[in-house]
Amino acid sequence: MTWKLDCGAYTLFVIEDGFYWRDPDGYHDEAAERDWRFHPRNDEGQVRMNFGCYLITDGDRTIMIDAGIGDTPGGPPGMTAGLMPSAVDSLGIARESVETVLYSHMHYDHIGGSQRDGDVVFPHARHVFHAKEWAFWKSGEDELAKAAQKIMRPLLDQDRVDFIEKDTEVLPGVTAVESFGHTPGHLTVSIISNGTRTLIGGDVSNHPFQVEHPHWSLPVDNDHELAGKTRDRVFEELRQSGTTFVAGHYPMPGVGKIVTDDSLRVYQPGSPNKV
Ligand SMILES: [Zn+2]
Repeated sequence: MTWKLDCGAYTLFVIEDGFYWRDPDGYHDEAAERDWRFHPRNDEGQVRMNFGCYLITDGDRTIMIDAGIGDTPGGPPGMTAGLMPSAVDSLGIARESVETVLYSHMHYDHIGGSQRDGDVVFPHARHVFHAKEWAFWKSGEDELAKAAQKIMRPLLDQDRVDFIEKDTEVLPGVTAVESFGHTPGHLTVSIISNGTRTLIGGDVSNHPFQVEHPHWSLPVDNDHELAGKTRDRVFEELRQSGTTFVAGHYPMPGVGKIVTDDSLRVYQPGSPNKV
């Protein structure tokens, strides 16, 4: 499924690459029933977990933010994934026209969709990462590192990758912003255009309960303390500036505001139009 958001000169398409159902118990020790209030549930009481990615276009230039999980093996059992390419096709946007794929980080659920059946999904795009990501993942030996290496190798061998080392504007008003903690080179993406402000959060936060509890880190956070500090800072900036927050692992479409409610800082889901 795909949703559409007006971001000034740009249209932002929120694309669901996949989802799975899981038991909310065991996700985080301190999470209670109310912390799952935004998640749809099935008849067994399981909550729906999502993998989101994004297309940004002004009608002339088009970029992607993250590529979803694709057909990477190793995801949760019963998962549906790899929906992104057909979602882009159904928008009538040629994949050949995508000039850049900017990645928040190198976890496989964000880079796995860069290729399918051995072919790159966006054949003319530069694939952009923070240099600190590859510096970290290229030599690791755990499952996440091995998955990153396997997915990155063809992109590197075919000379499709650019590394950035600081905040970098990729389109006018669209900027990759350093937001380290979840991973060592994690990026968020700021879109400031015609009076609108939007932040695509990558995995700066994986769950809405972190708006209230920024220090509730998850096992997937590489540096728990730094991830918590970064989340707290980012959410405070979003709250104060009224910026729209977009998060790929929040319940789809994962678009909302960070607001104060009864003296708590909370996530307030929005309702962008379905395409
Ligand atoms: Zn993720």
